[in-house]
Amino acid sequence: MTTSFPNAAPERCHGLLLDDQRFEAHRSLGHHPERPERLVAARSAIARSGFAWSSVAPSFACRDDLVRTHSEEHLVRLDAWRGRQGNLDADTFVATGSVDAARLAAGGCIAMVDSLFAGETNFGVALVRPPGHHATRDRAMGFCLLNNAAVAAHHARQRGASRVAIVDWDVHHGNGTQDIFWDDPNVLYASMHQSPLFPGTGRMTEVGGDHALGTTVNIPLEAGSDDGVYRLAFERIILPIISEFAPDFLIVSAGFDASYRDPLAQMAVTPAGFGWLARALDDACTLAGCRNTMYVLEGGYDLVGLEDSLLASILGARGASFSGAPANDPGLMIGSASRSLRSHWSCLDR
Ligand SMILES: [Zn+2]
Repeated sequence: MTTSFPNAAPERCHGLLLDDQRFEAHRSLGHHPERPERLVAARSAIARSGFAWSSVAPSFACRDDLVRTHSEEHLVRLDAWRGRQGNLDADTFVATGSVDAARLAAGGCIAMVDSLFAGETNFGVALVRPPGHHATRDRAMGFCLLNNAAVAAHHARQRGASRVAIVDWDVHHGNGTQDIFWDDPNVLYASMHQSPLFPGTGRMTEVGGDHALGTTVNIPLEAGSDDGVYRLAFERIILPIISEFAPDFLIVSAGFDASYRDPLAQMAVTPAGFGWLARALDDACTLAGCRNTMYVLEGGYDLVGLEDSLLASILGARGASFSGAPANDPGLMIGSASRSLRSHWSCLDR
């Protein structure tokens, strides 16, 4: 490991925490990597952070909360699964408590946005299940039923945020979030993901619809990418774009399956690497005038990798220093991604 891991929290940090036992009712009958034990690991990270946490009380998202993000047809289809169990596709199970858990996760994210706007603190972590970033406007897929981060982004816009940035470092491309904000110039969606890998979207040439060219940012990375590659993608593309876009609300689609320990992917990011990303993102957002930050749990299937990576991210997001690996460019993907976006962002035009 080339990076150091601080063992002390920045002092007097205060965060909002969304967590609820009912998220555990989303449980597959057979073995499934997206399991309730992930929340136990995430709670350990929260406890180890040493922060003062205020709980956000979730309530069920209603149709009016969700219809900005999802189609009526998707919501009706999902509602029909309430109290039932089965499989929506080869990857995506529904248990008897899953639809309620998904509604509660989305409603909890809305409540967190409201709490952030109330101003008690400007940082929150949503430990939600099921995850959300593969859920498109019209369908559930890839373990995801409702798109929690997208619901939060829409609600932040509703509450008056001018520009929302969603940075997605889950190892899979968040095709659902991209789909939902494809033609929305006020919501930046930026993803780093292993390619090729499920769901197969997220090519660097996917840059947004005609009204929002450049506000979809895709950086596909080769299997084996480590802290240094992620650092380079951040320094060359994501951080400059964040500075130019100047979001006033940041959502991190915080999946930790790019961890070197993860069983579902082949990346090599260490906890310290995640900490570095979180700190760099917070520094860039603060400079750009961003007022609120919200981490929304996505994937991450090794329990130790999830716990340690989440902990480092929380610490980094609140100012802990991680020395960071040297920026590492093993191939041409980052340069190519930058060229795909150059005509839409003056910061890349050099
Ligand atoms: Zn994932």
